[in-house]
Amino acid sequence: TPNPDRSAWDELPVRDELRGKSPYGAPQLDVPVQLNTNENPYPLPEPLVARIAERVAEAARTLNRYPDRDAVELRTELARYLTRTGKHPVAVENVWAANGSNEVLQQLLQTFGGPGRTAIGFEPSYSMHALIARGTGTGWISGPRNDDFTIDVAAAEQAIAGHRPDVVFITSPNNPTGTAVAADTVLALYEAAQAAKPSLVVVDEAYVEFSHRDSLLPLIEGRPNLVISRTMSKAFGAAGLRLGYLAAHPAVVDAVQLVRLPYHLSAVTQATALAALEHTDTLLGYVEQLKAERDRLVTELRGIGCEVTDSDANFVQFGKFPDSHVAWRRILDRGVLVRDNGVPGWLRVTAGTPEENDAFLDAVRELMKEQE
Ligand code: PMP
Repeated sequence: TPNPDRSAWDELPVRDELRGKSPYGAPQLDVPVQLNTNENPYPLPEPLVARIAERVAEAARTLNRYPDRDAVELRTELARYLTRTGKHPVAVENVWAANGSNEVLQQLLQTFGGPGRTAIGFEPSYSMHALIARGTGTGWISGPRNDDFTIDVAAAEQAIAGHRPDVVFITSPNNPTGTAVAADTVLALYEAAQAAKPSLVVVDEAYVEFSHRDSLLPLIEGRPNLVISRTMSKAFGAAGLRLGYLAAHPAVVDAVQLVRLPYHLSAVTQATALAALEHTDTLLGYVEQLKAERDRLVTELRGIGCEVTDSDANFVQFGKFPDSHVAWRRILDRGVLVRDNGVPGWLRVTAGTPEENDAFLDAVRELMKEQE
């Protein structure tokens, strides 16, 4: 909740570029069906909860000491997971982890962006890219997309050549549209970014486990300025854990050491993430169920008469509404919280359990009838 006393705020000697701005703020409302923040609707399975308790108890016995600063065991297991699922061998030296992929992205911008430097993203996309840029003093450039929300490659190449950004963000699958990016597109933008000046290309794959396409992980081979960013918040159903990671050339992993806070990943976090990785197969089973539900949402929404953007994520962008905020409110009045990302005419719904999705579809059906 924002402080109502804005005058005290105005007096604070905050940085000029933060003055009058709004923080990241997806509403956290207590309604029966919450499909607004792309969380996994399935609680962790009980055997995993028990294993977390065990591993955390073990960690608790050494909490008088600082944790492993380099999180070697965790990075080794993440590398094993990526190697197994990403069709590309990855070693511990290629992997870095932090408190959510938001922190990974922040460390990347602290290292490769910063004052006097710029980053570009192709919008609409994940709003935190621009916010983290602002927080790190990195200039932000809003790049274009096609009307169908795919990246306009020629326009993007032109924007990169013109602005010569230091960091290029490519979100695949993209949030909030659900759109996956083809490997060819990433390669074209990587080439454009290296031709303009050597710059870092970050592929944010927070939702890739839900995609019809493979991860772009193999592209890091021979491309030292390409970074793949991932998270345990979505596919692993562990948004509350706060564990994100990246895969890249070992030099990138070395470089972020310059800005990471010492002991940034608590022993409790490392123990919990390691327990979750032991249960990867079960958790990926939930991902399969969610993919089927996501596909059902796409089909049923189209049946109801909505426009729907093809989705490779655990959420679906649907519309088009004369006023998306009014539509958001009407759906909320029926007990279902979806997300208004400020894309005119469109809303975003996260794939929930079959029951939650049914409740959502009923709400939209009623809304569409009202609008007839
Ligand atoms: N990238 C994208 C595209 C996202 O949508 C999100 C979460 N909404 C994140 C990164 C950050 O997730 P986390 O910090 O939980 O890893």
